[in-house]
This record gives sequence, C-alpha cells and structure tokens, in this order.
Amino acid sequence: MKIVAEKNCDVFVAGAGVAGTAAALQAARMGKKVILAEKCAALGGMATTGHVNLFEPMCNGRGTQIMKGMADEMLRMAIRYGYDDTPADWKDGEPGQGTTTKRYVCHFSACIFALTLCEELNKAGVEILFDTVVTDVEATDGHIDSVLIFNKSGYTRVKAAMFVDTTGDSDLLAMLGVPTITQGGHHTYAGWGFSLDSCKRAVEAGTVEKVCYDFHGGRAGWNGTRHPEGMPLWDGTNGDQVSKYFIANQIELLNNIKQDDRHSREIVMLPFMHQIRTTRRIDGDYTLRYEEDMYRHFPDSVGAVCDPMKRDGLFEVPFGTLVRTGFDNIITAGRSASGEGWAWNVLRVIPQAILTGQAAGVACALAVEEKCDITKVDIAALQAVMEQAGNIVHFDDALVPKEA
Ligand SMILES: Cc1cc2nc3c(=O)[nH]c(=O)nc-3n(C[C@H](O)[C@H](O)[C@H](O)COP(=O)(O)OP(=O)(O)OC[C@H]3O[C@@H](n4cnc5c(N)ncnc54)[C@H](O)[C@@H]3O)c2cc1C
Repeated sequence: MKIVAEKNCDVFVAGAGVAGTAAALQAARMGKKVILAEKCAALGGMATTGHVNLFEPMCNGRGTQIMKGMADEMLRMAIRYGYDDTPADWKDGEPGQGTTTKRYVCHFSACIFALTLCEELNKAGVEILFDTVVTDVEATDGHIDSVLIFNKSGYTRVKAAMFVDTTGDSDLLAMLGVPTITQGGHHTYAGWGFSLDSCKRAVEAGTVEKVCYDFHGGRAGWNGTRHPEGMPLWDGTNGDQVSKYFIANQIELLNNIKQDDRHSREIVMLPFMHQIRTTRRIDGDYTLRYEEDMYRHFPDSVGAVCDPMKRDGLFEVPFGTLVRTGFDNIITAGRSASGEGWAWNVLRVIPQAILTGQAAGVACALAVEEKCDITKVDIAALQAVMEQAGNIVHFDDALVPKEA
C-alpha cells in the first residue's frame, strides 16, 4: 500500500456523527489540534445523513432539564435557522420542576443542522476531512501510533496522541482489537419526500415542517417495531450485509412508490447511511445496566442523562463506559458506549451521544496535557470542565421518585 502523505494532530476523531462532532469541537475549544475524518459528505451522522431528526427528551418529564451543555447548544444550532417544534412549555427555557409533564423534545431540519455543525467546527479550527474513510490502525501493545485514512488523495497516515472512535460501529476499536459486542438492528429504512397533499397541509398549517414525510422501504418502523418475522437482524459491521440491507430496502421502497401516481409525490432524500441503531459497541471498563443502574450515582460520572422513554428515569454515565483498560490512547462515545439491554438505548440517542462525545473531547484534551493514559485521566478535572460547560454531572436526589 502506498502512503502518499502524513498528517499530525493532538486528537484524531474517526466518524462525524453528533458524538464525533461534539468530541472534535470540545477538544478544539480546549486548544488542541484536531482532525475529524468522515466517510460521508456532511456532519451529523445518523442525526442528519441518517434522517433521525428528533432530539429525544432532555428533561425528566416534570419540567426539569437534565441534559444541558453541548447537547443543548447543538439543539439550538439545529433549530437556529430552520423549523422546530419545541413544546410551548419549553419555548422560553426550563419551566421548573412540577410545572409541566411535557417533555423537552424537538424535531429539526437535518440539512440545516449539518450546515451549522460545519460552520461551528470550521470556526473552532477543526480540520474536517470529508469523503474520508478510516481504514486501518498501526499500533503496538494496544497503543495506537497512527491510523490510515483513504480519500481522493490515496492513503494518508495520521499520527496523534489521542484517538476517538465515533464511527458508531466501533470500527477503530475493532481494528485495534479492543473487546467489542455486536448486536444487529432492525429492517428500518426511510427516505424523505413530499406529496401534493402534504404541501397543501403545510400551507394550511402555515409551517414548512409538514411538507416532508417518511417514505419507508424496510417494513420496520423508526422504533424497530414491525421487523419482518423470520428476518435476521442486520449486522452493521459486515460489508456484504450492509450492502444487502441497502439493496433490499431500496427495492422495497421502489415497490412501495410504484403504487402511487408519480405526478402526486416526490422523494427528495434517501438515507445516505444505514439506519441500524445498535451494531457494535465497546465492551468497556463498565457496562451500564438498566434496572440496576437507574438512580445510581457513579464517582466517575461524566454527566447525568434521562431515560427517553420513562418519565423520571435518571442515570449517570460512568467514564468506564467509554474506555477499556489496556488501551491507553483510545476512547469512544455515542452509539458505541458500553450499555446492555435498554441501557444501551439510553446511552445512544442524540443528546446522550453529544454528552459522551463532549466528555470524550475533554478526556482527550486532558490526557494530551497530562501526557497520561486516557483510562487514568483526572476525573475531577474532567467533571469540572463538563460542569463549566453547563452539564449536570450528578443528578439531584430530590428528583428521584419516592417509590424508587
Ligand atoms: C432507526 C433509528 C431511529 C432513531 N431514532 C432516534 C430518535 O428519534 N431520537 C434520537 O435522539 N435518537 C434516535 N436514534 C439514535 C441516534 O440517531 C443515534 O444513535 C445517534 O445519532 C448516534 O450518533 P453517533 O455520533 O454515535 O453515531 P453515528 O450518527 O452513527 O455517526 C457515525 C459517523 O461515523 C461515520 N463513519 C462510520 N464508519 C467510518 C469510517 N470507517 N471512517 C470514517 N467515518 C466513518 C459515519 O458516516 C457517521 O457519520 C435512532 C437511530 C436509528 C437507527
């Protein structure tokens, strides 16, 4: 293999979903030289190119906001120049405990979010490499010396002190030999489009948000229900499987629209990455569990998060869910954080992915400054930076329901 160039940085981030963009932005804001490589042509990953344009609840369902920091900052970036459907109770900020049961959730324009992310990361000085795939790792005894990336230039070697795997599928972790766990995902595939009827509805409602709707290929819904009986789950980490997933879903989508009048509707966007929610994650130093860890305080918490589905459900995310001892200069975040069962779902949704991404960025910056093993980073210092950025590191026990 011919290596055509070499690059150097403090922190290399593989994959620019919300977790990777948060990690890159945070490390750059802490003065680090950051390179962010993304195989698609836009930032945001599943939240933009994957069409998942809904920030899951960032509150406890009683009027108290749990998720702040960069998660809230990015939500505001997502809606700054586009539509939003923030509930009225939350329009002017946090309403306060006991004042509402409406949850702080919000749809946004995926494309506009991708553009604002690009502007913000560019402003922060992150070197963004689009259309660039991380293909290999060069390592000694679990320590990464460099990664190889491939784009139009050919192969480039990138050397860094710290590496972040936010490919969503733990590609870099697997290349390095970090223990991982793989779990397939559902037959979900939805493009976006509009029809004459949806345009009419939007004009009547006076909101552009109502123009586009989902054109489903795969029969499973957004939440995985209706996965065809007998069909194995899709494996997002096997190249042949991923191609089969796209082919099956695209043909199903085409068959679905063959029934319509072609003059009455148009599809404007197909998903440009798979929509498989759980693929491969780190088997981290700690694996978050649902029943056992709800309402549990962790001394190494990087931030408090809420259960998207359960009112009052609160967790803290231990730093151990992002790292694995024995691998001193790699950390993960987002979809590949270590959680089992529903706890994995609690960890991987958009606000949570941003929170763990931000924490990974802080950890890398501190590890570069302290020249230390990432698993041994000063947790108190990390928590202080997270708090300064507006995050809640430990939830308030007063928010825990009495029966719990
Ligand atoms: C069907 C479905 C419905 C969902 N619904 C919701 C919802 O309503 N609300 C919510 O908050 N969350 C939802 N989620 C979850 C949420 O969208 C994702 O978990 C979250 O966006 C993941 O962010 P991430 O940054 O960890 O990973 P990703 O968004 O997957 O980002 C990974 C990035 O890495 C890039 N990449 C991958 N491999 C490489 C490589 N080798 N080299 C370079 N780049 C690479 C990818 O192109 C991608 O941009 C849903 C997910 C799915 C699949």
